[in-house]
Parts: sequence; C-alpha cells; structure tokens
Amino acid sequence: MPSAAADIDIRIVGVRKRYGDVAAVDGVDLDVARGEFFTMLGPSGSGKTTTLRMIAGFERPDEGRIELGGTDVSRRPPFDRPVNTVFQDYALFPHMTVQQNVEYGLRVRKVAKSERRAKASEALARVRLEGYGARKPGQLSGGQRQRVALARAIVNTPRALLLDEPLGALDLKLRQELQIELKQLQQELGMTFVYVTHDQEEALTMSDRIAVFNNGRIEQVGSPAEMYEHPATTFVAGFIGTSNILERGGRTFTVRPEKIRLLPFEAGEGEPGTVHATAYLGPSTKFVVTLDEGGELTVVQQNLETRSEDIDRMEGRRVRLQWRPDVEFAIEEERT
Ligand code: ADP
Ligand code: MG
Repeated sequence: MPSAAADIDIRIVGVRKRYGDVAAVDGVDLDVARGEFFTMLGPSGSGKTTTLRMIAGFERPDEGRIELGGTDVSRRPPFDRPVNTVFQDYALFPHMTVQQNVEYGLRVRKVAKSERRAKASEALARVRLEGYGARKPGQLSGGQRQRVALARAIVNTPRALLLDEPLGALDLKLRQELQIELKQLQQELGMTFVYVTHDQEEALTMSDRIAVFNNGRIEQVGSPAEMYEHPATTFVAGFIGTSNILERGGRTFTVRPEKIRLLPFEAGEGEPGTVHATAYLGPSTKFVVTLDEGGELTVVQQNLETRSEDIDRMEGRRVRLQWRPDVEFAIEEERT
C-alpha cells in the first residue's frame, strides 16, 4: 500500500451511490498507486461498474469524493478527467476506419494532423495492429476490435485506463492470450490500469492488487497471493479459489485444495472421511471428501501416477486427508 500521496493516482473516499432502493456502492474507500494494475473483482451486481463509472465521471457519487492525482474531480464531467474507459462492447465508431477511430480523441483535442497520424500509428503498433488502419471495425475479429478500443484509449496517454470486463465477450482461449498481452502492455506503458472482472482467474493472472467487492462494499484488498493464501473473509475464500472452510476447536480456517494430501484410509494418519465426488481434469483430479468430524474439503492432486480408470473407483472410498498446520489460514473477520 503506497503511503506518500504523490504515489497515489486514484483515491476513492467514502463513496456511496444509490439507485432507488439499491445501494449499488455502499461506502467504498480505495487507493490505487501510480502504475499499478488494480482489479475490482466480484460477482455480478456487487458494484464494480458503478464504482468505475464514478471514477470516469459517468456517474456522480451521492456521498464521498474521487481524487485523481491528488485533485478532487468529483464534480468534473468525464471529458475533464485524465482517464479513458474501455468497455466490453468496444464502442467503436462503425463508419470510421480503424485509423480514424484511434485518432478521434486527438482530433477532438485539436492535435495537428501529422502528430495525430504518428501517435495513432504508434498506438496501433503497441496493440499489434500495424497495417490495419484502413479497415472498418466490421472487418475485424472481436479480439482485434478490442485491440482497436485499447489503442483508441492509450493514444490519449491518460493518467489511468479504466477497463470494464473488456475481454468478457471473447472465447476462453483468446481471453487468456489477451490477458497476457494486456498485462505486458500495461507494464510497457507504466500506466495505471483499473480493471473490472467477475473472473477470479483473470484477476489472479493480471493484477498487482485486487479488491474483492460484495454487495457494494470491499471485503478485502491485497496482492493475488495474499488474497489466495490469506482470505480475510469466508466470502473472499470462496470467491478466489475453492472455499474449503473448516471449523475445528472453535476456530474457522481455510486450506487450499492443492495443499492437501489424499491418503488411503489404512495410512492411519490424517482426518478420516469419505470421497463423495471426483472430477478428472486432465493434468489433475479433484476429489470432494466429506470428513467424519464434519465439513467437506476439495482436494486437487496432480495425476503423476493416477490413471483415469482408478479415479472412477474412488467414489465412496474411505480415505484420510493430511496437510501441514502451516497451510491452515484462520479466517478472522466475518462480514455479511
Ligand atoms: P457489477 O458491475 O458489479 O455487476 P453494478 O455496479 O453494475 O455491478 O451494479 C450494482 C447494483 O446497482 C446492481 O444491483 C444493479 O442492478 C444496480 N444498478 C446499477 N446501475 C443501475 C442503474 N443505472 N439503475 C438502477 N440500478 C442500477
Ligand atoms: Mg459490471
């Protein structure tokens, strides 16, 4: 967490936003550091888009304030804020060429033609679309269109780029490729990115830090490893990874599936239980085990020696689960 005010690009203080009876954003405080890849992660309806739209200026907070680079911009319209937004549905101008789309923001700001050309070409090269300038958006694939949308945003060299589920409309493989590309682009540019997604894997892949949203509030902020290994609430434990929550001796804790060893019952050590479901995942297998002492744990094992035929026979088997005490993480804080 940055301490010097100069390192903070975006500051959200006590922000609330209601729509009728719905508290879309219910008291959010957040600092995003300069050059950070910051992700707002949470289920549908948790207030991520509303928060992003308030940073962009498309919505005004009912309470609280938004600062960009130390300046309170809460009352400023979107065009007067040093940010650009990339949406899931591209929002390209269909009648304009790719080049014209990318130059648009510069033209509005009355940048000279030659400079516009040069900057747009550079932005298109950054997103690996050199040579596509003359095409219309309709002549591009979904992934290419989203690259144009990115070029159109970064060409304005905003203080921060806001991205609302930008890969949401793409198929898994393309999405995974673009996740890596986006992260590389962000690092090359050294630009602050605020990224909205409901996909925990996407958040873990790309982010420097993640804020988990639930019901218009932030449950926890931290690095991907912190969130995964030390979830502060049962909600975070369940939303990032498999929840695997146990209560033993008046204490609640979580153990991640890959930290647990599945042993034959005869091993004599470890918590006894029964396998009640299995799923063969190719490189690994998932076992869901009901424990005699109460509770249920998911175990993921690499398929080093296991064969798929053996896995089919595991359902209903008595087994024992073992893990090192230092992989148990206490869940301290409960929020609802
Ligand atoms: P997310 O992006 O996390 O899915 P949103 O910020 O879009 O969540 O929505 C948060 C809550 O606010 C939801 O309950 C949603 O239905 C409601 N909401 C968002 N925008 C509006 C609007 N313009 N009018 C009424 N309700 C809205
Ligand atoms: Mg949304």
